Amino acid sequence: MPPDFPDAKDFPPFSLRSEDALDRMAQMRGDTGWLKEQLAGKGARFLLLADLQIAVTSNSDGSETGLRWHDAGDIGKLGLDRSRAILLGCDARGHGVFAVSLREREAAGVPGGMEALKLLVDLRSLAQQGAMSAQDLSLAGMARALAAWHDVARFCGRCGAKTQSRDAGWRRKCTGCEQEFFPRADPAVIVLITDGKRCLLGHHKRYAHKFYSTLAGFVEPGEDIEACVRREMREETGITVGEVTYMASQPWPFPHLLMVGCWARALTTKLTLEEDELHDARWFSAEEVRQMMAENHPEGITIPGPHSIAWALIKSFAGRHGT
Ligand SMILES: [Zn+2]
Repeated sequence: MPPDFPDAKDFPPFSLRSEDALDRMAQMRGDTGWLKEQLAGKGARFLLLADLQIAVTSNSDGSETGLRWHDAGDIGKLGLDRSRAILLGCDARGHGVFAVSLREREAAGVPGGMEALKLLVDLRSLAQQGAMSAQDLSLAGMARALAAWHDVARFCGRCGAKTQSRDAGWRRKCTGCEQEFFPRADPAVIVLITDGKRCLLGHHKRYAHKFYSTLAGFVEPGEDIEACVRREMREETGITVGEVTYMASQPWPFPHLLMVGCWARALTTKLTLEEDELHDARWFSAEEVRQMMAENHPEGITIPGPHSIAWALIKSFAGRHGT
């Protein structure tokens, strides 16, 4: 660990990550008898998703939001087939916890329509609002990532035939050539670059006005994390990166990424931006970063919230450089 980089064990907590809310029961997913019992169990709980939006309950001002759970009876009343449920795992009492993902058209067809399923909320907004517990966010993220994968894995990429869900939603098998497909987590790097005194944050074209964040990019086939950090940062900003140190990771269910959070040392500081992607990138002092975190930066610059690993990376920089 370079002396001026934070230690991974001191890394700030952030909320949208893998919490030990459930035993994933990976060894039981293929046991159809056990699964049938779990699906019919009195304590079984089902989370509904419609068009990848999550069913939640909320108090009147929306400040406290939780996942909305249905029991096996509710699922029957809604006319849904329990056997399509994805097993998320078992809770501390040994009861099955499942997700049922509906397309918008299917959700509209349940008795009472979308109204009966409300409230349905976009997970990204939920995470940003900070109104949901870390455990619920983690479960919702897992459910959304799996549901998004099923949506794009319905046909075999090899022969084009339909695929069918197996192992409680953790495998799909082609009905034509028997090729198997497994849920994906696509690795991406997210990077706090520092020149020793300042850190580099970027403003992407798709971001809101004056919103800056750490830089990120997808890992390509045949590439390790360190090479990916160096390539992405060179392509996006023209900066040459030296040391790269892993800090923490975050499952990011949009649609099913694994964000690998790193600190990286800039060996050069002159910026040459890839303007197709990056609208602006600037070096910021720790003082300015603290102003952004306190939402009182003189230019009104904002950064991601505490649900994200980007926030934790930025906070770890502010914490390393005096107050
Ligand atoms: Zn096939």
